[in-house]
Amino acid sequence: MTISKLAREIKESPTLKMNEAAGKPRDRGEPVIHLGAGEPKSKVPLDAILSAAAKLTTADIRYTPTEGISSLTKAVVRYTEENYGKAVTTKNVIISNGAKHAIYNLMVTLLDPQDEVIILAPYWVSYPEIVKMCYGIPVVVNPEDGRFFPSIDDIIESTSSYTKAIIVNSPNNPSGAIYPAELIAQIVEFCEKKGIYLIMDDIYHKLVFDKKTAVSCYKFAKDQTDSSKLIVVNGVSKMYAMTGFRIGWTVANTKIIGAMINVQAQNMSCPSVVLQEAAAGALNGVQSSVESLRLTLENHRNVMLNELRAFTGIRTIPPDGTFYCLPDFRAYSKDSVGLSKMLLEKALVVTVPGKEFGMEGHLRLSYCGSMKEITQGIARIKWALDPDSPNEIFIGDRKYRRNWK
Ligand code: PMP
Repeated sequence: MTISKLAREIKESPTLKMNEAAGKPRDRGEPVIHLGAGEPKSKVPLDAILSAAAKLTTADIRYTPTEGISSLTKAVVRYTEENYGKAVTTKNVIISNGAKHAIYNLMVTLLDPQDEVIILAPYWVSYPEIVKMCYGIPVVVNPEDGRFFPSIDDIIESTSSYTKAIIVNSPNNPSGAIYPAELIAQIVEFCEKKGIYLIMDDIYHKLVFDKKTAVSCYKFAKDQTDSSKLIVVNGVSKMYAMTGFRIGWTVANTKIIGAMINVQAQNMSCPSVVLQEAAAGALNGVQSSVESLRLTLENHRNVMLNELRAFTGIRTIPPDGTFYCLPDFRAYSKDSVGLSKMLLEKALVVTVPGKEFGMEGHLRLSYCGSMKEITQGIARIKWALDPDSPNEIFIGDRKYRRNWK
């Protein structure tokens, strides 16, 4: 018995791989620091919990309409109006099991075999794999060295008559970069001219720093009708720290949403009603937790940047948002997978290799953990790599000596 060629070609999730690798020393009681995490640690908003609990206590927990419960689709309509100044109706909205599932269903809906999808490096690891799972071809466009987004000329150059869609994620996982408004305007203009779908993955758009904002694609759209090929994906995972609730959504024209409803009806019926209620509670409730998370992350980013500045040879472009940064470690190693492995073995710090995001020579470090994890994590990396740092370090109550070059 064999498994499918398709399944064999799908890469293991690098973050899960790192979690597994980190599990072994942790099980031995060693003090592993996790700078690889992709979820905020703050508490879920109370309104979300109360709303889910109220639903549970009815003991009437059933299927919902495929596109989601009306209180949630209405909340997404309002969110789209308030945050993007874009008027849509509930017919333009579908709720899925997280933004990842939304993107998967979207790809099933849009792609024919061999259709190409433009992915801008550095990119979220799941994009190429999702495209491949839908028999499409991911076409990665790389930025110039020292930048975190490709030029419009390189993007246009990479398109062909098979290009079906472009995915843009700004603020970006893994770099934290916000794409310049001018670049978004150029991408929107190009997509409208060529009839290419533009998928904006806005999952981090509230988690931005230094009073910057991630500009909305709608701002530049000439086509404000229901045939627009602009699509926005978002969800509650990051802004409300609700990763475990698995609720995301897609806003698109009614034809796309109609087709996605058919796709979703056949692959999962509907997201759980309890979790949809929680998401509606978060969106309709008090919003202070989002600002408080944003402020905490901005603070953590500043601390991480400070620690990295004291590190000879490391170049870091300050992140504009998210909870990741992507320093350039090529002064120490050009092999990010090897480097990440070495840092886990020697310094007990989990990082994610840049190679997985199309950015070899870099490591993704996340600052959504505690302040102590950030400062100690960077101190350990510095100790393991920088010959100018002291030869010995305490990790937990054990003294470690650097005996490698
Ligand atoms: N898009 C990006 C860029 C992400 O980083 C993530 C989560 N890591 C997702 C989508 C998926 O989010 P969700 O939890 O809503 O599936």
